[in-house]
Parts: sequence; C-alpha cells; structure tokens
Amino acid sequence: MQVFTVIDGRVECGALLHSHTLSNGMVIPVIAVGEEGRGRKQAMIPVANVPRSDDAPGRLLYADLGSTKSGGPKLIARQEPGGDTEAIVVFRTGIGYRGGNSHTGDRAGWACRRWGCKAEGDGQYPATCPDCGHDVTIRFAPFPGRILATGIIAQGNAGRMGSGEQIVAVVPRGVVFRTGYSGRLYGRPAAHYYLFDGEQLLAATWEERMATDILPLPYARPEPVNDVTIADILALAAKLPAGLPDTGAIDKLQHERGELQAALTTGDMPGAFTEVADVAYYAAKAIHEAANAAGLTVEQALAVCAAKYGLRAQPGNPKDDAAERAAVLAVLGE
Ligand SMILES: [Zn+2]
Repeated sequence: MQVFTVIDGRVECGALLHSHTLSNGMVIPVIAVGEEGRGRKQAMIPVANVPRSDDAPGRLLYADLGSTKSGGPKLIARQEPGGDTEAIVVFRTGIGYRGGNSHTGDRAGWACRRWGCKAEGDGQYPATCPDCGHDVTIRFAPFPGRILATGIIAQGNAGRMGSGEQIVAVVPRGVVFRTGYSGRLYGRPAAHYYLFDGEQLLAATWEERMATDILPLPYARPEPVNDVTIADILALAAKLPAGLPDTGAIDKLQHERGELQAALTTGDMPGAFTEVADVAYYAAKAIHEAANAAGLTVEQALAVCAAKYGLRAQPGNPKDDAAERAAVLAVLGE
C-alpha cells in the first residue's frame, strides 16, 4: 500500500518515521500521531523492515499491514506499493481555536436542526428547512476507513481549551472521506475532502468540488440558475444606493471586468464568481441606462437588439444599415 500524510487538506507522500525508545532500551521506528501530555495522547504504530540508515529514520513510502505479537497493528515497510485498492493515511488533523475536529465520510444529505421536526433529505442541503424554516445540519457518512491508531491533540492546560483526534487509517480506493474542524478557524476552510484514486490522494474543499471535477460529488450538482431575468437584476438595482438609471454603469462594467481578470489570475475561483456577478449586474444596468437615455424600456432594448443582430447573424454576416434601421423601427411599431 502507498502511505500518505494529510494535514488539513495538504497531502504529502509517505509518513515521517520517528525513533521510539522501548523500556528495554531498544530503539524502534514508529509512525506517531497525537501529542504527549495531560488531556492528550500519543499513539504509535511500530514499523518493521525499515532499511538501516545512519541518520534520521526517514520516511515510510509503502507498507503492508501486519500485527504485533500482542495483536496490535504493525506496518511492514516495502520498496514498492504492492497493491492499489487501499492506502495507509496518517491524519495530522488540526483543530480550530477552542474547537475540535472530526474524521467522517462524504456528505450524506441533511436534517432539520429543530427539535421535533423530522424533515431530512439525501441531496444538497436547502437554505432552510422546507417544513419549518429552521436551520438545517449537513449529515456525513461514517468514516469509510479502518482506524489503526487514535491519538489526541489539545490546547491549553490539560487540554481544556479544545481537543481533537489524529488517526492512522487504511482507506479504500474510490471512496471520499473528510476531515472537519470546529472552533475559530480565522478564515481557513471548515473541512477538506479526500479521495484515493489508486495512484494519488486527492484533496479539495467543498467549494472546489462544486466548481470543478477534482472529486466526484455525492449527489447531482444543483441545476444552474437560468431563470433569472434582467428585470430581476434591475429590481435589485433599484433598491441599491446608485439607483436607476445608473449613468456610471458602463464605466463600472469595465472596472469589474478588470477585477474579474485579477481574480482569475490569482486562481481565486469563489472571488472570480463574485466578480462575474458584478459584471452581470453592471451589464444589466448598462442596458437599462442606454434604453432609458433613448426613451425605451429594457424589453424594447432587447427587442431592437434581437431585430438588428438577427440580420447580422444571417449567412455572410451582412451589414446593411438601411435594413437595420427598418428592422428596429418595425419591432418598436413605428
Ligand atoms: Zn424543520
């Protein structure tokens, strides 16, 4: 099996080997998770067959699972993967400030948070409970791996400020699993999702999964919102300080297009989507402003647009000014 280490969404190949001194003075290589101290627990798995080296024990890249004489788990180092249906993962999972963490399977529907409300579903969670309007909670499938060892990390004296688990587990190929973090995260993601594909261990946030195909989604991607009209956008615009008509809309449109480019350059996709929202907003306002300047409604602006560009889109893309003038007058009933 391949060995990986995951640290809150960051994936490393292999796992760091530590030297552990037994009570009889013998030093053995181990994989360790957790911490030593009050309210904490360090968990170790001995590793056999590690090539002798003069310096640090190095990294464990591939291993088989065995057992110690007392029946505990033991890893047996190997020189090549030797199978791709499972992987060994060392979870050095963190916790938020005064928080905790969790190791689960993929998202598996939702349930209403309100006591007594039985509403629940299998798909993407709704904004509020469709039965009672209360908040809903996301449900997660059980952790799909076999846990070999569990350590505990903590904050504060005796771990009273917060604590969480770090585990070593065997995970199956092709099944999504997750590390979640609670407490104050200071802008960091609240969870990461992973998948062993037989070669690599892939990691993504939920937002990255929704925006890409890095990991398969547990349910169908929501249908794209395509029933919003320009009138809907303009109804929102009328409630905002700039109001309607906005003579600055075209300048702002150009500015927002520049901000979109900046977001795309840094690879910030959620940021880029908010800039697309700005571009769509000012494009709608620019149509409204131009229509208003010429004494037309937005519907008439779209109608003259379709009339003119219906001619332009003909074979050969003709530019016939007289025909275009006649066409726009015709749709305006003049
Ligand atoms: Zn409810």
